[in-house]
This record gives sequence, structure tokens and C-alpha cells, in this order.
Amino acid sequence: MELDLARLEDVLSPYIVLRKSDDLVHVSQPLLARTGCAKENLRSLLESRVALLDTFGTGRETVSLPTDIGKGDFSGSYTCTAFDGTEIFAFSEKANGSAGHDQFLPEVLVTMSLFSTGACLIVGKGHVIHTNEGFSNLVNTPVQDIVGRQVISFISRQSREEFIRACGQSFGDPDRIAQPIEIMLTSSSGRRVFVSMIGGWFKDRDMDYLWMVMSDITENRGLRKRLKDEEQKFSDLYDLSPIGLLYVSPRGVVTSCNEFVCKLMGYGKEEINGSSFTKFVVPREEERLREEFRALFREGSSMHRRECMLRTKSGDDITIEYNVKVITRKNRSVQALMVFSDVTDKKGLEMELLEKNAEMEKTLWEMAEVKDALEARAGELNRATEELKVLNEKLNQLSITDGLTQIFNHRHFQDRLSEEVERVHRSKGGVLSLLILDIDDFKHFNDTYGHQCGDIVLKQLAGILKGTVRAVDIIARYGGEEFAVILPDTETPGAALVGERICQSVRSTPFSFGDGTSVKVTVSIGVGSITQGHGEKSELIRKADNALYAAKAKWKDRVEVWEEEA
Ligand code: GH3
Ligand code: MG
Ligand code: MG
Repeated sequence: MELDLARLEDVLSPYIVLRKSDDLVHVSQPLLARTGCAKENLRSLLESRVALLDTFGTGRETVSLPTDIGKGDFSGSYTCTAFDGTEIFAFSEKANGSAGHDQFLPEVLVTMSLFSTGACLIVGKGHVIHTNEGFSNLVNTPVQDIVGRQVISFISRQSREEFIRACGQSFGDPDRIAQPIEIMLTSSSGRRVFVSMIGGWFKDRDMDYLWMVMSDITENRGLRKRLKDEEQKFSDLYDLSPIGLLYVSPRGVVTSCNEFVCKLMGYGKEEINGSSFTKFVVPREEERLREEFRALFREGSSMHRRECMLRTKSGDDITIEYNVKVITRKNRSVQALMVFSDVTDKKGLEMELLEKNAEMEKTLWEMAEVKDALEARAGELNRATEELKVLNEKLNQLSITDGLTQIFNHRHFQDRLSEEVERVHRSKGGVLSLLILDIDDFKHFNDTYGHQCGDIVLKQLAGILKGTVRAVDIIARYGGEEFAVILPDTETPGAALVGERICQSVRSTPFSFGDGTSVKVTVSIGVGSITQGHGEKSELIRKADNALYAAKAKWKDRVEVWEEEA
């Protein structure tokens, strides 16, 4: 807006100085007239007192302007207003405006006061000629101190330009009431007071009047600012939050969504907002979701931790976990807020884990089966080993047993005799005896009764031997009809006694063959002995053999002990 100097004088003050780029560009005619100074004089005077104009007058400081002789002192306050790059200094000479208007003021003021918390009536050249308690409270200045002051001095610097513009627009137009403007007042308390103001112009008896009424919106502004801040915070949270936020109308249409949803789905906000929610759900889930939402809106309820699959713009299916809460106003469900997070990765991991678990379970089962099989096999093996042991035992027994008589055979006799001879030589005072026994005239026996009866005699004789000797003594079949008895820890006399006992036993035993007949048999026995450190196995056998030979030679059926001289 172009600066209209006449208008400025009307709404601000007749005493105006304009400065642009540190240069005084205009001094109003009334100011020149009031001070009596020529424009150039006043200009140079003001310039020499730059500090005066640098104080950014608020309308409270009193300044004195130079005057010509005879003009009287000019002292008053001033305000400074920046307007489109021009500084407007408006001076106000103290208390001069209210005279002559009192008669119609009450009526106007009553009307104005009815409507507002603050009201001002301004007359010719910006002076306040009347105001009310409301305005007085707003600017924290008594009514009598307001009246006569330039109204601009109560307007905060940051609002002056707008104020002047609004006043200028209403001036001269009786039908026009300025649009409400929000301006800040300067309160002497230092409080920031914001008012919403309307005003207008009227003319009465050739006088121009400006009126303005205002209401305090300081608190409202605070609330509005807080609301705005909160809104900003919410909108930041809404868009920055790493979860999906989506509002759905009762008809299933998305009314709003946050950035996360756009990013996740690959759609722009404009593509999502206004679309049916089920458009973003995989086809097989559409009906379920529709039903869920219908039920939620019907009951005005909420639900938690559900899962569904969405399909992104690029066709990927993602799994989300969502909560929905229906928002009600005056008992009506107005929209639903859906909050969700992408759990696709989690789902994938879960699936992988399940697969791994299943695999592991399978492996465990297989291992258990293998273990069972192995255990069964081990059982079999154990049994086989046991059987083998028994078999071995049997085999071993067979290998050392004489088949006819079931006593030790000749080979085993040799082994045991070697062991016993070794033992004799190992143990202090060791002694060992050996009996060799031969059936008398057995050839003849066979010839008389037959070979089979001979075998029976051999078997029975083995039985007699078993019953006659100690358990530690070792009985063996030495040859055809010859037997041997190893007697550990037995000296010659003891061994001879054993031999006698055998001879006696055989002699008194009737050998029967099952057909009622019984026959007598006799045996001859040779005894040999060795002691520790004297005599080897062969010597022991030779001794017993020689003694047997001697027994045969002496009528048989007797025991002969080996003697050195023999
Ligand atoms: P001596 O009193 O001098 O010993 O006379 P003998 O007849 O016993 O003589 P000798 O020892 O030379 O003969 C042994 C006989 O024993 C020969 C054989 O017929 C018999 N004989 C050897 N082994 C067996 C056998 O296993 N069964 C039977 N029935 N007879 C056997
Ligand atoms: Mg013989
Ligand atoms: Mg014989």
C-alpha cells in the first residue's frame, strides 16, 4: 500500500516525520506549523539528534522538539512504526484532544462498551478521546492517562503496520467495518496482550471519528498455540512412528494413514486415502476383515493382536499384527483406528524355526529307532556271545575229556601235571605225588567177556576213582586201560595210602554188565613223588611207571612205591 500522508495524519497524529534509509524524507505540515521551524531547519535539528529517533519510541517517553521563538515548548511522546521500509515517527503533544466532543460521547461509549472488553474512540489525528475500563485494563493504564494520547502508542510495534493499514482502509467509508484483525497491545505491565479488534469510521458535525472495539484473546492465543504445537507433535508422531496408523470410516474406507503405511505398502497417501481398506488385503482375507470391522463398528469395541495379510503395490504379501479401536463420539462409532506392525520377517523366522523343529524331531525319532535297533542287535550279540561262551566251554570241556570215561584225557593230564610240578618248585616245602594205575590182565578180560564189557569196566573204574580221592586230586585216563591220579601236596606215604584205598575199593567192587553176572577186577598202582627243587615232570612219571612195573612183577593187585634202590 502506498503511504497516504494525509491518511496517516488522520489515523496517527498530525505531527509526523518519515525516515527512509536514515534520511528524513517528510515532516508533516502541522508539525512544521506547530514548531514554527522551516522544514530544513527541523530536519537538520532532528538529524543532529539522531539518538532521539533511534530510541524506537513506544509512546511513553517524553521528548522535546525544537521550536521557534514565540511558539512555546513542544514536548510530548512519540511512536515509531516501520511501514514498507519507511519509519513513521508520530509525535503526540500532551493532552489536547478531548475538548469539544463530550456531549455525544457517553452514548457512543455505552454502545461500544456493551460489545467488548476494550473500546476506544479516536478523533481527529489519532487522539483517543474516550475509552473504557476494559481498554484501561488491557493496557494497564488509567483511563485519564489514555485519553489525549495517540492511539498508536498503545499498539505494539509488531502490530502497528497492520493497524495503520486497517484504519486507513476504513477511513472515509461509512459502510465499512474493518475485518477483525489480531494485534498486540503494549501494556505498561510488560504483559503481552493480544486482542481481536474491529473498527470503523464515521463523521459527525464535520468531525472524523474512528472507533474500535476489541476482545482479549491472549488466553485463546495461548490455547491455540498449544493446540497447534500438540497438533504438530501428533502429526510428527503420526508420520514418523515406525508402526502403521490408519483410520477407517464405518463404511470401510481409509480416511487417513501415516507415512509408514505408504512406505510399507508402496502406495502414495492419495492412493490409500479414500480407498476401501479391503483393497489392500489379500483376497482370501477380505471377507473376514470386512466382517471384523462391521462387528467392531456395531459394538463400538476394540480388538488386539490379530494377524492378517496385506498385498503391497508390487504384489508382495506381508503379514501384519494389528490392533483396532473404534472411536465413538456421542455414542456413535465414527471411525476406527488401526495400529499395526509388519511381522513378515518374524513370521518367516517362525516358519523356519517350526520347519527346523520338525526336522529335528524327525531326526530324533530316526535316531531313537536306530538306537532301539542297535540295542536289540546288542542284545542278540550278547546272547550270541553267551551262547558262544557256553559252546566254547563245552568245546573246551570236550577237548580235555576222555569220551569213554568222562574224566580228563591224556593231553589234559600232561598239562595239569606240568602246572602242578611248577607249583611244587615254586612253593616252599612243596611236595607232589603221582599214581599210575593199570588193570590187571585186561587183555584176558576182553578176550573172556568181550570188548564192550571191558569198556563198561573202564567207565565203572573211573567212577570208583572219583569216589575215592579228594576234590583237589586230578583223575585222568592215562592210556587204554591205564589211569593216573595227581595228588597235590601229598607225600609218598600218603599217596601210597590212597593207592591202597583204590586197590581195596576196586577189589571189593563187583563189576556187573546188566545180565545178572558180575566179575571181579583188580588193579596195580605205582606211586612216584617229588619235592621242591628235586625232579621234573618226566622224572615223576618215570618213578610212578617204574613202581607200577614193579607191582606187576610182584603178583599184581598191589601198590608199589618207587624206591631209589629199586
Ligand atoms: P597186565 O596184567 O600185565 O597188564 O596184563 P594185560 O593183559 O592187562 O596186559 P596189557 O596191559 O599188555 O594189555 C592191555 C589190554 O587192555 C589190551 C587191550 O585188549 C585192553 N584194552 C586196552 N584199551 C582198551 C579199551 O579201551 N577197551 C577195552 N575193552 N580193552 C582195552
Ligand atoms: Mg596195560
Ligand atoms: Mg593191564
